[in-house]
Amino acid sequence: MTYPGRTLSLALTLSAALPFTAATADAPGIDLAGIDRSVAPGDDFFAYANGAWYKATAIPEDRATYGASAIVYDRTSQRTVELIQDAAKTEAAAGSVERKVGDYYTSFMDEAGIEAKGLTPVRSKLDAIAAIADRRSLSRYLGTTLRADVDALNATNFYTDNLLGLWVAQDLDEPSRYVPFLLQGGLDMPERTYYVDPSPQMAETRARFQSHVVKILELGQIADAAARGARVVDLERRIAEVHASREDSSDVKKSNNHWKRDALDRSAPGLDWAEYLSAAGLGAQSEFVVWHPAAVTGIAALVASQPLDAWKDYLTFHALEHHAAVMPAAFGQESFAFHGTVLQGTPMRRDRWKRAVDATGGALGEAVGQMYVRKYFPPEDKARIEAMVLHLIAAFDRRIDRLDWMAPKTKAMAKAKLKTLKVHVGYPDRFRDYSSLEIVRGDAYGNDERAELVEYRRNLAKLGKPIDRGEWVMTPQTVNAVNLPVMNAMNFPAAILRPPYFDPARPLAMDYGAIGAVIGHEISHSFDDQGALFDDSGRLNNWWTEADFAHFQASADRLVKQYDAYEALPGLHVKGKQTLSENVADVAGLSAAYDGYRMSLGGKPAPAAQGLSDDQQFFVSFAQSWRQKMREALLRQVIVGDSHAPDAFRADVVRNLDAWYAAFDVKPGQKLYLAPADRIRVW
Ligand SMILES: [Zn+2]
Repeated sequence: MTYPGRTLSLALTLSAALPFTAATADAPGIDLAGIDRSVAPGDDFFAYANGAWYKATAIPEDRATYGASAIVYDRTSQRTVELIQDAAKTEAAAGSVERKVGDYYTSFMDEAGIEAKGLTPVRSKLDAIAAIADRRSLSRYLGTTLRADVDALNATNFYTDNLLGLWVAQDLDEPSRYVPFLLQGGLDMPERTYYVDPSPQMAETRARFQSHVVKILELGQIADAAARGARVVDLERRIAEVHASREDSSDVKKSNNHWKRDALDRSAPGLDWAEYLSAAGLGAQSEFVVWHPAAVTGIAALVASQPLDAWKDYLTFHALEHHAAVMPAAFGQESFAFHGTVLQGTPMRRDRWKRAVDATGGALGEAVGQMYVRKYFPPEDKARIEAMVLHLIAAFDRRIDRLDWMAPKTKAMAKAKLKTLKVHVGYPDRFRDYSSLEIVRGDAYGNDERAELVEYRRNLAKLGKPIDRGEWVMTPQTVNAVNLPVMNAMNFPAAILRPPYFDPARPLAMDYGAIGAVIGHEISHSFDDQGALFDDSGRLNNWWTEADFAHFQASADRLVKQYDAYEALPGLHVKGKQTLSENVADVAGLSAAYDGYRMSLGGKPAPAAQGLSDDQQFFVSFAQSWRQKMREALLRQVIVGDSHAPDAFRADVVRNLDAWYAAFDVKPGQKLYLAPADRIRVW
């Protein structure tokens, strides 16, 4: 079974430009004007809650989708841009995070300064590559390129252009300690398919890739670029051939391979591991988890079998391209022409200031995050959501008690896991310390390089220390959420805690219906068939019985049928099986949010608001949080490949809750009506 690390997937298709919608302060609460009262809630709840909005809204030209998440994303970007640009204008105290953020941004924006330096910043690296004289010094140089730039289970990033990538995380066998995970890398193109797929389209892409490599070498004033470029492409193809597939990468059971230090020499000969690891600062490390064993073996063998000069050309190309964003303009243009236009079809490069904002957020994520929450996320907001989380957890606890399909022993494990679950809200208790990161105004290249190195060292420093369960993998200014399966924790960044998901100025029923259901959805993943892989300590240890799986499957099959029946476009149906895990989580999340809301009232009645009873507020707020318009082409792509159903159908999950029928007087014969026995209660 695979365990794809799950983010919330708000179907954010980021716009190439940021056409800021005017940040109008909407009145708090339900968007009454967006409701279409000509539709009966029992016939099409999404259309009832969003129909008027849907008719009045056009998808912006540079986007494939538009709705609640895009609106929140735009507003957050605008705030982040302002914070960073303000920091750049005011000279904050030396050493302060504001100063670092401002200096990083200003340096990135200094195009003339970067142009004037030419190749000077990368010169020492090129000299070091030229001086490589044997396999030993090659291995040593390769060791200096290792960075903490991959993540196998949380943010799930399997790509690094360095030969290998490092992820320092909890040992899946012994979760009380950190171990270094070694992942495959070394390709310039995104994935092995690009190198090995025989289709004419990929062959064409490979031809363009070769020109791209040659062009970068030429820009670096490397002699004989055409012949060298061909060698680089050939070496990358060999690396790709030994790479694991994406599917294998996300299979935890295939990947959890503990190797003692000497096993690297024995099972992956060719690379001089002593030199490599000592250059990488891992010389004393006695054990590794080799996530891609065949690839690590294959790559190490290539270090010995391929000509030294091919390796030097390869490293020269990578050294020239890796920091292209902060090199003279021609490098960035060439890098975008290939990676942006050829590989992704994006015609236009984003404005420099937008790239500068992203780069600053990448290098100093939690520094920008600190500034963001100080201005936009007061402690009262955090407290309000943390109180909601307690009620949601209590609701789950009761639901587990009442489950009739789970064995008592499994229930006890589920409850234990619920007890140790950490739901982090807004921002980490302790922000990352950037004091060792030197940001020099006017040194964009050096800043970029040092930021990577400091992040790498921060990860190395975790080895041998107790697990920090407070660590975040998303920055506070990210509009998304993430479940960290090994940590048994979740991150709900401040940026998603905004209307229409959350608004302290409106009744609680609306918050429970929107962000409450999202939090419930994520919590349920920790207990479902995939969460079953990791126990309460984060150990890879399946705690479900065979019978639990069978019973879970039986309820699940009925939900598959419910979604299979949805027709998104004429003749095109939602795929119930492909979206099953997410649909189960949607039912569970909304149910727990509803129970949690009832508990929060402590038996007291809640007042109507905006002409809606509290249950109506809960459900309409839920459906409005899923409002989205999508272009047909993207909708087809989502149906074919996404593990989530299209947002409109996610809103219709309400039909599985009894309370929804009472709230909107839904009657048999209406399109969404389900007889009580047909309403799904997996949890
Ligand atoms: Zn999910």
